[in-house]
Amino acid sequence: MKALIIGGGVAGPAAAMALQKAGIDSVIYEAHPAGAYGVGATMGLSTNGLAALQVLDAHRAVADAGFPCPRGVMWLGDGRRLGEDVPAPLPDGTTAVQLRRADLYAALHGHAAARGVPVEYGRRLVQVEHRGDRIVARFADGGEAVGDVLIGADGMRSATRRFVAPDGPRPRYCGIFGTNGFAHGLDLDSGYGTFHMVFGRRAFFGYVQREDGCVWWFVNVPAAREPMPAQLAAIPAEQWRQRLHGLLAVDVSPAARIVQATPPGYDWFAAHQMKAPKTWHRGRAVLIGDAAHVTSPSSGQGAAMAVEDAVELARCLRDLPVAQALPAYQRLREGRLRKVHAGARQVNRSKSATGPSRVLRDAMFPVLMKRFGGPQALSWLYDHRIDFDSKVEADAG
Ligand SMILES: Cc1cc2nc3c(=O)[nH]c(=O)nc-3n(C[C@H](O)[C@H](O)[C@H](O)COP(=O)(O)OP(=O)(O)OC[C@H]3O[C@@H](n4cnc5c(N)ncnc54)[C@H](O)[C@@H]3O)c2cc1C
Repeated sequence: MKALIIGGGVAGPAAAMALQKAGIDSVIYEAHPAGAYGVGATMGLSTNGLAALQVLDAHRAVADAGFPCPRGVMWLGDGRRLGEDVPAPLPDGTTAVQLRRADLYAALHGHAAARGVPVEYGRRLVQVEHRGDRIVARFADGGEAVGDVLIGADGMRSATRRFVAPDGPRPRYCGIFGTNGFAHGLDLDSGYGTFHMVFGRRAFFGYVQREDGCVWWFVNVPAAREPMPAQLAAIPAEQWRQRLHGLLAVDVSPAARIVQATPPGYDWFAAHQMKAPKTWHRGRAVLIGDAAHVTSPSSGQGAAMAVEDAVELARCLRDLPVAQALPAYQRLREGRLRKVHAGARQVNRSKSATGPSRVLRDAMFPVLMKRFGGPQALSWLYDHRIDFDSKVEADAG
């Protein structure tokens, strides 16, 4: 069995390592040149994602690429503390981490390459077709590759998805855009490794201080219409810094001070989410990670879901013929994904609330947190563990 993996972001290398563990060879085809991992953006990798990486003996390398962030605390802009979140660490003590996206990519690539997984860079998939009982990937450079299964791990704008689900859902803007940065030289009493989330009056602000004092932060600004990148880039950085200061200074939090302490210069992103298509596979092609279901940044789960997908798919392909493995994989994953998406939608609604809906949010949030929050509220998410050795059964019927 040979697998063609399209995309070498998070899901791609994780799938290659998981398939190798299942005794299946694969090649990764990545559109970008080697080392073009992107810069800047930071992210959190939660314990469930690290647990999935532990199945591949890759969780320590990834954790070491970032810094531990075992605790999250939520606040309202008026200074009220809403609650906290302390997911249980893995048995070896590994906790959730913060890291740069580029470092996550590099750690996963490094691991896959060290295990002999071939990666072909500069190979952009443009077309997929079946040829007899095999599947063919065609690339923009005119070349092709033939395999037994094709795994679309090609992200939010997946070319594989155009083949698998041409009429399926498209990524939708979630009502917030944002940027992130790094501040130095601040005296905060936020505690190292505690991620603070401030649902402010005019914007959402997240920040965490590393042990060396550097503060990693991001901001989410509500906007009913999705701003175009050129529109955001047209506003000079110093002007943006003043605007952000105006959005954040109204809150009881160090947010405005943190932004002022950061040299201006911003990479902007707009948050998107996309529910999974009805069917995640077609013939011998299957979708994983963002290609299957874009999970908005507000969930803090996109990368974790990508790794979990990869590990479950490998189990299915190990235990079942392709025609049964792909539906079994979807069955194992779709319920959990729906739940993660529902949670992210709720957070996005809270983050994008303005005017009277923001006032209502601030009135209801503490009540809801008291009722539905608590230490076990998210254990279904963070404590999820994949038993790689257990056999996958084919779907009935
Ligand atoms: C601002 C922001 C913050 C985020 N924060 C978090 C967070 O805190 N926690 C979290 O878990 N997730 C977070 N995410 C989400 C997370 O980054 C994604 O869910 C994750 O990267 C998905 O991995 P993937 O491998 O499916 O897709 P990607 O990482 O997008 O990788 C897809 C790869 O496919 C390649 N590719 C694309 N098209 C082709 C083609 N036609 N042929 C060949 N290769 C192709 C791309 O170059 C890329 O390398 C965040 C996302 C954003 C935008």
